[in-house]
Amino acid sequence: QKCLSLIKETRFLNAYINVAEDVALRQATEAEKRFRQGKPLGELDGIPVAVKDNFSTANIETTCASQMLKGYIPPYNATVVQKLLDQGAVLMGKTNLDEFGMGSGSTDSIFGPVKNPWSYSKQYREKNSGSRTIADDDSDWVIAGGSSGGSAVAVSSGTCFVALGSDTGGSTRNPASHCGVVGLKPTYGLVSRHGLIPLVNSMDVPGILARCVDDVATVLGVLAGHDPLDSTTIQDPFQTFTLPDDIDVTNLCVGIPKEYHAPGLSTETLSLWSRTADLLEDAGAKVVEVSLPHTRYSIVCYHVLCTAEVASNMARFDGLEYGHRANVEDSTEAMYSATRREGFNDVVRGRILSGNFFLLKQNYEKYFLKAQKVRRLIADDFVKVFKSGVDVLLTPTTLGDAAPYEDFIQEDNRTRSAQEDVFTQCANMAGVPAITVPAGLSSRGLPLGLQFIGQAFREQQLLSVAKWFE
Ligand code: GLN
Repeated sequence: QKCLSLIKETRFLNAYINVAEDVALRQATEAEKRFRQGKPLGELDGIPVAVKDNFSTANIETTCASQMLKGYIPPYNATVVQKLLDQGAVLMGKTNLDEFGMGSGSTDSIFGPVKNPWSYSKQYREKNSGSRTIADDDSDWVIAGGSSGGSAVAVSSGTCFVALGSDTGGSTRNPASHCGVVGLKPTYGLVSRHGLIPLVNSMDVPGILARCVDDVATVLGVLAGHDPLDSTTIQDPFQTFTLPDDIDVTNLCVGIPKEYHAPGLSTETLSLWSRTADLLEDAGAKVVEVSLPHTRYSIVCYHVLCTAEVASNMARFDGLEYGHRANVEDSTEAMYSATRREGFNDVVRGRILSGNFFLLKQNYEKYFLKAQKVRRLIADDFVKVFKSGVDVLLTPTTLGDAAPYEDFIQEDNRTRSAQEDVFTQCANMAGVPAITVPAGLSSRGLPLGLQFIGQAFREQQLLSVAKWFE
């Protein structure tokens, strides 16, 4: 009830697309009963969670923040949603995002942009708006980051303890960093994608956003593991993740990738990054400079691979099977075309067009195959660095703090969005796990995060380092 009333109080942040009030109250009442009987369902019994609106939820509308899926009610739960419910979690609702997860601001949703709660914090208001209050000027707010901005805001504003996001190029880590919460992108294949409406199948992973690293570890333990409904999940058994309170970093080797001194990196983030490296060194860790030479090709390479997969994935939205259907009856083709014109925003349509261009017979080898080869080189950079004895990498998560909404939408949104992924994207190309942890506040009073990148399936080590730092 406390979380539900907080959701109502923070409605103006636009974090939720759909609040599952009745479901949540029923689940919470049942959990309370079990609690009194001393028979909890599982580790998450009674814990309020929120789920990004690109995960299928049985009998609850799932829109991907798109006109195309407005009103679509899936008949089944995504595996990760089912796993949360099986442990007794209370589903508060579905969270807002950039349409189909395409973006880095959570500003491109048919339900309107998500607002970062830090815009209304005392620190930000005092430093930036004098004594103005929310009601005085509602255009003066900063973006939540994206595309899982709704999930990050849901956790950051206290309306739930954990939220699911998705991460294809940084969509969990970017908003977590901008909203001052922890955000994990697990190793590709550790957590099932069944029921996550795909953006880029070869890079998508469900992400976990929470207030602290221990909570992320608990939820990862619940979600991880083989799923017969997702053939890319690992078969091997895994151990649940329990993090010691006393973490020793003395035998740890931390790599600082020199290519991550990227153009546009704010001086504040840079100094936070180097101070953290010093902190690790002071605690006895070995800190070394490393090179990931193909990093600079990652954004361009991602663009080719992402749009090609998007072109293929979005073909299912034709107005026949589910979601929106245009009221055009001249011919089937005319109906398809009108449905897709009405259903998708400019960003989605632009990516479908680019993807189809890269996949044309005469372009396939020149762009798509070449991008796949570059992707392999990017992934191999990580393998080499980890083979040389480095345990984890320390990098910024974003270039700087969250941009004011007005600035973010004035620039060319697509270019801006792509630049935002510069530190996060490579981990998706390589499939390795990465976590962002709140690291401090900028001079404008907004959160800044730092990222640790780990070796595939070595989440235990990655989470331990993150907990040490937190
Ligand atoms: N910003 C990237 C994009 O727009 C990544 C999105 C994501 O991780 N879902 O595609």
